[in-house]
Amino acid sequence: MTRFTYEDGFIPSRGKASYKPVEYEIDDNGCWVCVSHRKSEDGYVTIRRGSRRIRLHRYVFEREIGPLSENEVVMHKCDNPPCFNPKHLTKGTSAENTFDRNRKGRQAKGERNRGAKLTEEDVIKIRNDSRSLSELSQEYGVSSVQIRNIKKRKAWKHVREESA
Ligand SMILES: [Zn+2]
Repeated sequence: MTRFTYEDGFIPSRGKASYKPVEYEIDDNGCWVCVSHRKSEDGYVTIRRGSRRIRLHRYVFEREIGPLSENEVVMHKCDNPPCFNPKHLTKGTSAENTFDRNRKGRQAKGERNRGAKLTEEDVIKIRNDSRSLSELSQEYGVSSVQIRNIKKRKAWKHVREESA
């Protein structure tokens, strides 16, 4: 993949305070995925500019689109935290962001799958149900193979009992 450098006019300085230029690759969705900096656990990239540490997508938003106030957050239309393509960024409030993330997270994992009839709650019940595969299959209207996969955690892996 081609590597690009995000030109933000920032000149890296030598010695103690030296800054890596931001490099990125463009994926099939048009996302600019940062490849030069480490991602934090939540998938976001933080960079250092002068004395401040700032999330990359927020930094780029302010440079390319406009200033942000404290309670404004930058959301990803593409759902890809390390992406900083200005066209994929949009401004929202932090409440919207949480809502958006929950909605997308939920959909992205199990319940959006085509033909998925089960909810996460069902999955947890199935795992704790000692009845036979065929009984459970009838009760929940999915194949017994699916029931077995759920029990063996080959399906719906992301659902953990603690989340019930
Ligand atoms: Zn993107």
